[in-house]
Amino acid sequence: MAARPKPHATGKTKPGDISERVGVVELEKRGVNVKELIEKLIDAAGAEFTTYYYYTILRMHLAGHEDYKEICEDARLEDRAHFELITPRIYELGGSIPHDIREFADRAGCPDAYLPNPPTAAAILQVLLEAERCAIRTWSEVCDLTFGKDPRTYDMASRILQEETEHEAWFIELLGKERDGKIIPSGHFRRGNPGDAPYSKNRGFYNP
Ligand code: ZN
Ligand code: FE
Repeated sequence: MAARPKPHATGKTKPGDISERVGVVELEKRGVNVKELIEKLIDAAGAEFTTYYYYTILRMHLAGHEDYKEICEDARLEDRAHFELITPRIYELGGSIPHDIREFADRAGCPDAYLPNPPTAAAILQVLLEAERCAIRTWSEVCDLTFGKDPRTYDMASRILQEETEHEAWFIELLGKERDGKIIPSGHFRRGNPGDAPYSKNRGFYNP
């Protein structure tokens, strides 16, 4: 009996060729500019990494606001999880993060979340809020570039975007209360443990 045709058994990439990735060829066939995407992902990963670093400092200066500290800790650890989620994808696509951390920090796609002076709780919360907004803009752009063309990067970017959207809501709530005495509920539920992000860390399964 004649074997059923296997249309995907071979393609442009020669068998055994390790100089090319079918996982990239197929994206290019679908119109993704993979080079440009890698550069954007490196900038975005840099922003997640530096944000994680700067949030460490911001959190240290929220003493006396233990509730703010806990929310800040969630956002901090989730941004680290975002860095760890997206970095392997950069390598899969054939890219790499810079070998010098200074270069990495410099090319981060979002401004440094410096400790404000004076470091009042309201000023710190505004820095946190604006960092989340930059992250939302960043991951929305990655979603646009990959939607319908690169399901794997899109899935990761959209999971990160979901958490950044939550982070913005948290800091609107806290800044509203701290600066304006206004109650603007964010819908924050406690994570299982601080940083137990439902989408990026647990790969989509929320296990309190
Ligand atoms: Zn993040
Ligand atoms: Fe965030």
